[in-house]
Amino acid sequence: MKVFKTKSELKQHLLGLKTNDKSVGFVPTMGALHQGHLSLIKHAKKKNDFIVVSIFVNPTQFDNKEDLEKYPNTLDKDISLLKTVSCDVLYAPNGNDVYDNNIVSQNFNFDGLEHQMEGKFRDGHFNGVGTVVKKLLEIVEPDKAYFGEKDFQQLQIIKKLVKKHNLPIKIKGRPIFREEDGLAMSSRNTRLTKGHRESAPFIYKTLKRAKIKFGTKSVDKIPKWVVKEFKKHPLLELEYFTIADEKTLQTATKIEKNQKYRGFIAVFAGEIRLIDNIRF
Ligand code: AMP
Repeated sequence: MKVFKTKSELKQHLLGLKTNDKSVGFVPTMGALHQGHLSLIKHAKKKNDFIVVSIFVNPTQFDNKEDLEKYPNTLDKDISLLKTVSCDVLYAPNGNDVYDNNIVSQNFNFDGLEHQMEGKFRDGHFNGVGTVVKKLLEIVEPDKAYFGEKDFQQLQIIKKLVKKHNLPIKIKGRPIFREEDGLAMSSRNTRLTKGHRESAPFIYKTLKRAKIKFGTKSVDKIPKWVVKEFKKHPLLELEYFTIADEKTLQTATKIEKNQKYRGFIAVFAGEIRLIDNIRF
């Protein structure tokens, strides 16, 4: 596996790879890799001739300074893990290389997708995500890029970004990879205290119960039920639960036959904010 710290060296190397019609798959990450990331990479590896992974903790998408400062950094371990899945190229730059010495967000209009859910609670988050993903896609110029449904709103926003800017790249979503107890894998899980880690599977358990209720209860009753369940929990604090249309991400007020819906949740386990979702 080749490791590059600068986009000029990376681009030079990719020029060589892209000859002979070879396809390039790209998996952007913020590192502290886990099996969820690796599942994306393994899938991308099957579908492309070469795989590029990036590891870059993007400062402009953090609305919480402490979350950014405490974001886990495990680069040596990540490199070993990437070798186990035969990753071809790793791009692990610093901020100035990605942002050309000007680390600020651009403003995007994602047709309202950015104002729902995470957009309501994380100020400027999707401008930061849009800025870095556009830059990374323009640097790597992959044929396909892979994103997890764990961050479902992000996935929909990136599809919109690529469409609006006519980038010739296919965006592929992949299912959420979970721990055996159901907790969605996340780099932030390593920061949970023992008690919070033991409590955290309650999030997915509640999503599964909400899914069962979706078939039988009216759609506005389910969020109220979720709020009550979390009020009873001593260690977890619900930030939001909403049932939304998969395409528009707007909160569902009534259920249309041909639409697809998901339940989306954000929960504080102590200082750590966890998100998850489930298809209904
Ligand atoms: P991150 O490093 O958290 O920015 O995630 C990098 C990519 O991996 C994003 O597309 C995430 O949605 C995806 N990802 C993170 N956790 C999971 C998971 N548990 N299952 C599937 N994909 C994931």
